[in-house]
Amino acid sequence: MPQPHILKITEIFSAIQGEGRRQGEPTLFVRFSGCNLKCSFCDTKYAWNKGREYSISQVLEKIKKLRKSYPAQWVCLTGGEPLLQDVKELVKSLKREKFKVQVETNATVFRPLPVDWYSISPKPNKYYSRPEYKDKAKEVKIVLTENLNFEVIKRIRKKFPEKTPILLQPQSNRKRSMNLGIRLLKEALKADLKNIRLSIQLHKVYGLK
Ligand code: SF4
Repeated sequence: MPQPHILKITEIFSAIQGEGRRQGEPTLFVRFSGCNLKCSFCDTKYAWNKGREYSISQVLEKIKKLRKSYPAQWVCLTGGEPLLQDVKELVKSLKREKFKVQVETNATVFRPLPVDWYSISPKPNKYYSRPEYKDKAKEVKIVLTENLNFEVIKRIRKKFPEKTPILLQPQSNRKRSMNLGIRLLKEALKADLKNIRLSIQLHKVYGLK
C-alpha cells in the first residue's frame, strides 16, 4: 500500500501576517520543522527540531477547522525552512480549497509551486538566493543584523528588478536595529537606489504570535 505523504510541522495557528507587504492581513500559518541555516538571531529556533508528523489531509483538516472561527483567505507556509519538505501536494490541496498561498523562505531552496506569493529573506553572511527568485519573489526581506552594511543592500538591489521592494526589517523590532535601518535607507536615497523600504514585525507590536 502506498504510504501517506508525511510533513513535519511545528505548529498550525491563526494570526495576522506581521511582515512584508501583506502586513496586517489575517492569515493561517503552517510552521514547518527544520532549517538548513541556523541563524544566531533566529526568532523561531523552536522550529529547528520540534514538531510532529502530519499527513496532508490532517493539515487540511486543521486549517479548515481554524477557518471556521477565523475565516482568513490566506495560508502562509513558514518555518524553519518550509521548502526543505515536499509541499507541492499540500499547496495544490489548499488552492483547491480556494485559499491564497504564501511561502516564506530563506531563498536557498526553490520549488516551483502554484503559490500566490513567494516572500524571500536571504540571510548573512552570503545573502545567497536561488536565481529563480529573481522574477518570482514579491518582496525581499533583509533582517537588520549588526553586521549588515550598505554594500550588501546595493548588491541585493542589483540582483532583483526595481519593482521588487527590498524591506529593511529590524531584528525583533530593536531600537538599535531600527537606527541601522534609518541609516541604510538614507544611504540608499543618496545613492539613488530605488524601492528600499523600512519595515517592522507588526505581530510583535501587537503582541501576537
Ligand atoms: S533561515 Fe530563518 S528560520 Fe532558518 S535559522 Fe535563519 S532566521 Fe531561523
